[in-house]
Amino acid sequence: MTPEILAELVDALPPGVVATEPATLENYRFDWSKDDGAGTPVAAVRATDATHVQITMRWATRHGVPVVPRGAGSGLSGGSSAVDGGVVLSLERMRSIEIDTASRVAVVEPGAFNVEVKTAAAAQGLWYPPDPSSFEICSIGGNVATNAGGLCCVKYGVTTDYVLGLDVVLADGTLVTLGGKRIKDVAGLSLLKLFVGSEGTLGIITRAVLRLIPAQTDRATLVATFDSMTDASYAVIAIGAQLRPSMMELMDNAAVNAVEDWKSHGLDRSAGALMVAQSDAPGAARELEIEAMRVACEAAGASEVAVTTDPGESEMFVSARRNAFVALELKGTLLLEDVGAPVPLLPDLVDGIAKIAAEHDVMIPVVAHAGDGNTHPIIVFDPNDPDVARRARLAFDEVMMLAIALGGTITGEHGVGRTKKHALPAQLGEDVMALSRKVKHALDPDGILNPGAVL
Ligand SMILES: Cc1cc2nc3c(=O)[nH]c(=O)nc-3n(C[C@H](O)[C@H](O)[C@H](O)COP(=O)(O)OP(=O)(O)OC[C@H]3O[C@@H](n4cnc5c(N)ncnc54)[C@H](O)[C@@H]3O)c2cc1C
Repeated sequence: MTPEILAELVDALPPGVVATEPATLENYRFDWSKDDGAGTPVAAVRATDATHVQITMRWATRHGVPVVPRGAGSGLSGGSSAVDGGVVLSLERMRSIEIDTASRVAVVEPGAFNVEVKTAAAAQGLWYPPDPSSFEICSIGGNVATNAGGLCCVKYGVTTDYVLGLDVVLADGTLVTLGGKRIKDVAGLSLLKLFVGSEGTLGIITRAVLRLIPAQTDRATLVATFDSMTDASYAVIAIGAQLRPSMMELMDNAAVNAVEDWKSHGLDRSAGALMVAQSDAPGAARELEIEAMRVACEAAGASEVAVTTDPGESEMFVSARRNAFVALELKGTLLLEDVGAPVPLLPDLVDGIAKIAAEHDVMIPVVAHAGDGNTHPIIVFDPNDPDVARRARLAFDEVMMLAIALGGTITGEHGVGRTKKHALPAQLGEDVMALSRKVKHALDPDGILNPGAVL
């Protein structure tokens, strides 16, 4: 890009919006996955207003410049990795949150963190349920763009279930408003949902209208240990077949020990698998639900089952699960999987992952939003050992192929980004890939929005 073209963008936006210093740009190259294919941008636009996004996209279209939309950069699939010669369009400074209690919605700018929306809603006795483990460090724009899931999604659904409206800036700079504060609306094609989970490849979200629900009631937490992930998976199937827990998470032995090595949470280091489940059923129903969960765990061979209603103790177990990625990161370089399968096939998935780990002699600890059949096998390896790194890559691909063979998915919530892109055709097939490319071409004919991601 010529200096004149870059100067045109700098001049079109208020002072301080466009950063070009190499030290600043370094902060916008990677997301949390540290994708080694990340490039170096020529500029980072830190928009404070939707018009800045429009101006940037009109300029990018005029000059054919790639634009990577970026929220908080907590993504785990290289979705916001910068591209060489492109611009990173950061929404981090657009953070306003307005709670409309009468309509029971939050109207949110994309850079607001998930936790900030939850806090603002809670101040009005309301709740925004989607709760990725990263809720304190990820943005609503990123959540919508990846259709983020989380721990309570097993009962309350994922981000898309709460998106009522979006403002989206298209590749040519047009701003469209889709949906709104209406609970029911079937006018026209369902374009709103096309942008949910589109990972910055179809448009840039500049405002979201999010459904809120009444605050969650008290919870009871069940913690069960099993000899193996297989046994624990059978307990998950049995519970899911008859109950609606508000959380049902699993950690395997390696994940438990990594978390304990990092910070003691009082977990049983000898457990083959640990289940953390919750019930938020109202009144006496809560006790009955937890009791039924206990019976199912024991029938599946649980070695120990404990129940607590103490909020502090519950939070300790839940945060142990949430912190698994952070704890495992201290053990080596991570290749993060997000594979899922139909819940009845969860035992096949966890057994298959263990076999792949043994065959390639690599460490693959597993944590899981198990109630959704969504697992995170995390390949931990030493990047300085080329043979280990090669085997880790092979295992990464085989885990995705295993999930596809089970009728599952290569990603349940983190998105395809750049790190799983090569496996997408194997899951979707040529016809669906071709259809996806047609949609992409219709909305972004010059291919400037997040090139290299997803498709
Ligand atoms: C410790 C840890 C735990 C995690 N746990 C979970 C979990 O439980 N569930 C889960 O779903 N994810 C989880 N994640 C992954 C990550 O936090 C989510 O994918 C999150 O939604 C990304 O938000 P972000 O703001 O960081 O987006 P980024 O990483 O900045 O971007 C993610 C994608 O969204 C696009 N994007 C961002 N903002 C916009 C916008 N305004 N318009 C258009 N496109 C945009 C980007 O181009 C990119 O493709 C975890 C991550 C970490 C580090």
